[in-house]
Amino acid sequence: MKFTVLSLFPDFFNSLNQFGIIRRALEENRFSLDVYNIRDFSTDKHRRVDDYPYAGGSGMVMTPQPLADALAGRKHVIYLSPRGERLTQDIVRDLAGYEELTLLCGHYEGIDQRIIDRYVEKEISIGDYVLSGGEIPAMVLMDAIIRLLPGVITQDSLTHESHNLFLLEYDQYTRPETFDGQTVPEILLSGNHALIEDYRLEQAIRLTLERRPDLIEEGIRQGAFTSNQLNRINQLREEEKS
Ligand code: SAM
Repeated sequence: MKFTVLSLFPDFFNSLNQFGIIRRALEENRFSLDVYNIRDFSTDKHRRVDDYPYAGGSGMVMTPQPLADALAGRKHVIYLSPRGERLTQDIVRDLAGYEELTLLCGHYEGIDQRIIDRYVEKEISIGDYVLSGGEIPAMVLMDAIIRLLPGVITQDSLTHESHNLFLLEYDQYTRPETFDGQTVPEILLSGNHALIEDYRLEQAIRLTLERRPDLIEEGIRQGAFTSNQLNRINQLREEEKS
């Protein structure tokens, strides 16, 4: 995967590549990242990149010229925007299949609409709140995509993760067996894999029914659950009612 990022603050992205899984993925060439400063494309003698909005309104708007020049010839342009489609694991999975993505980070009140109309393939929001710039959203999107690239994380880890199969993940425990008077659920120490799998499924379903019943509804609508999962969902729903 080749990421190209266009930003007014390229230094933001220095932190992305320095830690953990993402750093290793970069070292193993699972992805590449080129970050360009939009200001470097400005032909204004003061290198300005923003101006007042037409017809009034608060704040400034990023001007089209530097953006158009920075975007010329780029493929699959995604504009990070609170007006975009809300990011989900489905969208992440879809984008992870691309060979190349260009991520455009806005600032101020956003960018001139004509740039969106001409160059942007998709607008993505990372949630229903407003941040001051698109850099953190771009890093969120890249991190989520990079984890799904082949060889970055084992398939088994991905399979059980929250949002992969319309279920939130079961609780996790590690050593020691007793910490501060709290013990690990006994079944996890039993070594009985079938029972453990069943316990974890039940836990994942309970948690999802409690916190994100919409995920379960969506999974059912898409026919994503196995018959075993569906039986357990129905059983636990009945239990909840009684
Ligand atoms: N005036 C814009 C509006 O109300 O929709 C908000 C602009 S925001 C202050 C500046 C930039 O931050 C946006 O152009 C966008 O790139 C980024 N941004 C802010 N919130 C975001 C979100 N929830 N998801 C993705 N990008 C966001």
